[in-house]
Amino acid sequence: MSAPRRTAKVSAVGDGAGARPGVVYLVGAGPGDPGLMTARALELIATADAILHDRLIPPGALDDARPDAELIYVGKAPGDVAMEQAETERLMAEIALGGRSVVRLKGGDPFVFGRGGEEAETLVDAGVPFEVVPGVTAGIAASAYAGIPVTHREDASAVAFVTGHEDPDKEGSAIDWPALARFPGTLVLYMGVRNLPRIAERLIDAGRDPDEPAAAVERGTHPDQRTVAATAATLPAAVAEAGLGAPAILLFGPVAARRERLAWLEHRPLHGRRVVVTRARAQASGLAGALRGLGADVVELPAIRIEPRIDTPEVAAMIDGLHAYALVCLTSPNGVELLFEAMAERGFDARALANATVAAIGPGTARALRVHGVIADFVPPRSIAESLVESLREVEVQGRPVLVARAAEARDVLPEALTERGALVDVVALYETFREDAGAEAIERAREADYITFTSASTVRHFTETVGPDFASGARIVSIGPVTSATVRELGLEVDVEATEHDPDGLLEALLADATRLS
Ligand code: SAH
Repeated sequence: MSAPRRTAKVSAVGDGAGARPGVVYLVGAGPGDPGLMTARALELIATADAILHDRLIPPGALDDARPDAELIYVGKAPGDVAMEQAETERLMAEIALGGRSVVRLKGGDPFVFGRGGEEAETLVDAGVPFEVVPGVTAGIAASAYAGIPVTHREDASAVAFVTGHEDPDKEGSAIDWPALARFPGTLVLYMGVRNLPRIAERLIDAGRDPDEPAAAVERGTHPDQRTVAATAATLPAAVAEAGLGAPAILLFGPVAARRERLAWLEHRPLHGRRVVVTRARAQASGLAGALRGLGADVVELPAIRIEPRIDTPEVAAMIDGLHAYALVCLTSPNGVELLFEAMAERGFDARALANATVAAIGPGTARALRVHGVIADFVPPRSIAESLVESLREVEVQGRPVLVARAAEARDVLPEALTERGALVDVVALYETFREDAGAEAIERAREADYITFTSASTVRHFTETVGPDFASGARIVSIGPVTSATVRELGLEVDVEATEHDPDGLLEALLADATRLS
């Protein structure tokens, strides 16, 4: 996901000439799991004028960059030189001297095999102020995710980080292999998979115990992390057989055997399952985060995007007359948020709803209301319009003004049923939903999914339009409830799992039960 949004453009030259130089932040992005980025890294990414980034940064790391930030890819894919190191350093200094702030984003930690030291030196020479933001380095993170503590009271009182980049047979090697063979602790090798056979041989020849536990961790902390455990002597063959490649770290030391008891990643209930989340990005994070926490490889493919429509004369009139409604119905958490935003803009707060009976379509909507100090009077047992209509039977609406605040395009079940009972119904749109164009990479990953989750009828329609009808034939479809399921079936697809509780938590429970049953 580190594809450049824009390619390098040295427009910075001369910008704001004479201005105070911008700060360059040498920022570690961590080993790959977006959750391991530091709070400081996220803060700086969100505010930087320019971001120069490598290939090995977590997926989505740049999602919260400013829309006008210049994103420059300076990494190297193996075998291809995107930008020379000197050129990167020059560019970074140049942008900063033009008065703009720069985040130099690197995988892991910037000062651990990241050339961050050299970059900092260039900045000192150029008189550019800089800060260093450490990151979680792969040697520690990949080990931890593999269930291997790099130190242990009984097994290792020291740990060495070593580069395995260099061919150990090379004359004049910078690495003292005999010293490493004698090192009384854990050896963690970076960039060493390619040279692994020669590294293991050199270590053993120099006296390292061939039966010492050893391990290799490929793509540590990513959803597709793979670990191979063996001994110093057998690791090369085991790694070759499993087909492990870069990026991977190698570990030598008794701690590697601790994995037998401490492996935890593989034991999470959704480990190894790819799950597509199709909610709008603004709402998806809760569900996506919960799925990730259970070990799923989450693909966020927001099928819809929500655009507020609260700056309309219709909404203004509705807000000004809010106190007059006998019943106010809210059909989504978005609706609640935007209603309160529109109220605030016109100087109202929750008291504008003091006279009304308030109905929420489901627990998520009721929760959103509670945040704004309003406890819903009605929340139907099932989060669908029909169920809300049913719950509202006892509310006297004949001849009384009723508000249904919702999305522009929505089913008319609720307003129609209320009108039939003599209510004077105003339907006011607070937002519109649009199709969100997904990136090609996300679509490709979605095609290989084990589960696709749908949280509303509109996500089903938009998703199938985006990805096409023959997506992920092997995937199981999980629907939040009957209305969404009906839409899935209308499109000729089958619903494999339907949530009993029609909210994201209920959907998660249903998916988990299904995955557990199938495993
Ligand atoms: N500055 C980085 C290291 C850069 S060198 C850090 O602190 O982590 C690149 C090497 O880091 C790779 O060859 C590999 O050995 C290791 N590496 C980076 N990401 C990794 C990951 N997710 N899992 C395993 N090893 C990783």
